[in-house]
Amino acid sequence: MPITSVSCVLCGAPVEDIFHSVIWLQKFRVVYTILQNWNEARLSGIGQRRQFEDVIPLDDSVDADLPGINYEESEIGIRLMVTKFGGKYPPNPPLVPQPAWGFPFHSSCLEILSVACPIYGSCLDLQVIFDLCRSQPYKHGPLDWGHDYEGLIGPPRDIDLFCPGEEPDLALANLKTDIYTHDPLDVPELRRLFTDSIDFYVQNDASATYEMPTIYSTGGDPLTKLPTEILQMILTWMDSRDVANLRLVSPVYASLVLPDRFWFSRFWDGREFEYVFEANVTHSAGRNWRQLFQKTKLLASLPSMANRKRVWSLAHHLCDLINCRRSYNSCNGEKIRTLFEPNGAPNSDHWVTAGPTLYAPTEQYRAGARSLYERKIALGSTWKNIYVSTVKIKNRRYVSGIRIVYNNEQSTLFGYCNTDDGANVTWGEYQQLITLIGFHIAFDSKGIRGIRILSSVGELSEWMGDWYDLSQRVLVLPTHLPPQCLKGGFDALKLVSLSISNGKDTSPASPSPLHHQHSNLQETAIWHGEIPHKELSFLGPHNTLLKDYRDSLPFSLLLFGGVDGTQLPHLTRITVWVVDNTELGMYADRTHIWGLEFSFSRPVDGKASILLGQIPDEGLFNSEIYHMDLESGLGERITGLEAFYEDPTFIFGLKFYTNRGRAIEFPPSCTDQLPRDEYFSDILKPEDGIIVGIYAVLKHNDVFRSIGVAYIPSN
Ligand SMILES: [Zn+2]
Repeated sequence: MPITSVSCVLCGAPVEDIFHSVIWLQKFRVVYTILQNWNEARLSGIGQRRQFEDVIPLDDSVDADLPGINYEESEIGIRLMVTKFGGKYPPNPPLVPQPAWGFPFHSSCLEILSVACPIYGSCLDLQVIFDLCRSQPYKHGPLDWGHDYEGLIGPPRDIDLFCPGEEPDLALANLKTDIYTHDPLDVPELRRLFTDSIDFYVQNDASATYEMPTIYSTGGDPLTKLPTEILQMILTWMDSRDVANLRLVSPVYASLVLPDRFWFSRFWDGREFEYVFEANVTHSAGRNWRQLFQKTKLLASLPSMANRKRVWSLAHHLCDLINCRRSYNSCNGEKIRTLFEPNGAPNSDHWVTAGPTLYAPTEQYRAGARSLYERKIALGSTWKNIYVSTVKIKNRRYVSGIRIVYNNEQSTLFGYCNTDDGANVTWGEYQQLITLIGFHIAFDSKGIRGIRILSSVGELSEWMGDWYDLSQRVLVLPTHLPPQCLKGGFDALKLVSLSISNGKDTSPASPSPLHHQHSNLQETAIWHGEIPHKELSFLGPHNTLLKDYRDSLPFSLLLFGGVDGTQLPHLTRITVWVVDNTELGMYADRTHIWGLEFSFSRPVDGKASILLGQIPDEGLFNSEIYHMDLESGLGERITGLEAFYEDPTFIFGLKFYTNRGRAIEFPPSCTDQLPRDEYFSDILKPEDGIIVGIYAVLKHNDVFRSIGVAYIPSN
């Protein structure tokens, strides 16, 4: 039994005979390469997992001069699911040099994939598969494609508690079913049905294939004019539910004998038994397809059939990704030198970048996104149109490329796009693009989902791609001058980061987002949902230990006073939910602020109150609710906020200050028992302005990791 656990890249099931009786699980092949030969993907023969090593048959195309290759032996060691590169080779002893590395597929799953990708027959595009695998993060267990392996893996148990911008981690998820143990390729019952017992029957004997039709009146049915052959042919292209509905409303169809070809078509692509590909690789002529359909239907509930259906669907999905990647000749733009592309141009510019957290080639790629290809283009100033190409991966749309068409009809391609695709960037009725200053970028952890263009007069184009309920960032140069160059990080399918530069390597580096900055947080931070109004200023915590969480999680903003402060006279109550972990007895893990709710004397946007954070489930958490009433109608206003930290990664208490000299602490007296040197606090009191909101980094279980105030400066 191997000491490490590895899963099949296609089906997500373990590559080892975990039950000592399921042989197919241990038969695997590897899409692999040697060292940093990124563009020389190949397929191994059947490999073997041993206790301390994995091996594949030695391919004689492998360079024999490399340390770790011994032509005296018939096999070589292989490292599976590698995501960190650039180390010394050969490694220092006692590490054993193993130049081969790659991604394992069960032999059964690979065969299903080659049937599901019929265009290439048995000749799968290994390089594209290899690049797609390199684009996905891996922690342990299955490769994280962003799907649940067709129901194999359930979401993490606490998914309901996730905060805005948080995404589930596949490695924390749980296996929902054990159907994955059944061989999806060799289903004996299917094999017998389609190869062993061929039931021939007489083709023209309609009564043998279908019960006697009920006689309906066909008067008034316009379909009576169509010949029977056409009526029958139409049925073969419809799914079975639509056929059933059609037979309910059309007397002509209700009385039509369903022909043999109709039953055969139920095994075609897109029909209910598309995954029974045995039907399409055996001779169809002379078979009793209605009977085969019914017998297949009886088998459908078998676990092996359920696994066949699951793996077929996963193979189809991967095939879609392969086709998508193959529809582009290359990733367009000037190549920039990276570990993955050492022959690119040196990267000397200073860039301002927006997008998800990227993992460098020299890091373990455990989550988020990775750039395989860095591309750069120069931005001219006389363009006519900008087109944005997108790619749909499962139910999410990502930006894949940008095409700029200049006034002289010349065009520049950036990333994955062709000369005739993409959607034209559109603007409001009165605004046209004058000069591009930057972008607003919407993204999730895996890539850029949407972009809109910011013009020099401060106007924004319509969104291209997705933007709702996503993290967003402004992408502008600190000088607010038009950028001269655009740089993208791309994985095998999509844009994962976008950068701009003024084209000179002497420009000042962009400032990193600082939580405490008063003015430009709007431009330098990641926000969940819309970018805040530029009239607002921000005051946040001073402690830099929180940086790790700020890099990947967005700020969530709640404006209880409205963007102009007009709601402030109607704010009547603040409610605070606190979860108390004191009983768990963990050091520095006593109280956590979970939810802050602001209630109004009259509805604001149809709501009597608005909430930031979570309301803890009383049955699951030891929680308390506290209130603070405000005499806002008489002019009482919040003038400051103090956040208390013991562990610097979450807030254990809060204190609100008002202009009536009140200071209310939640939970009450929360600092009384603590020595002053065991906690610190941030006092957030703008010197000149009115507080209208709060913003925070939120994460499930801790919930308020940090907090700041949004205010309107008085000037
Ligand atoms: Zn598999």
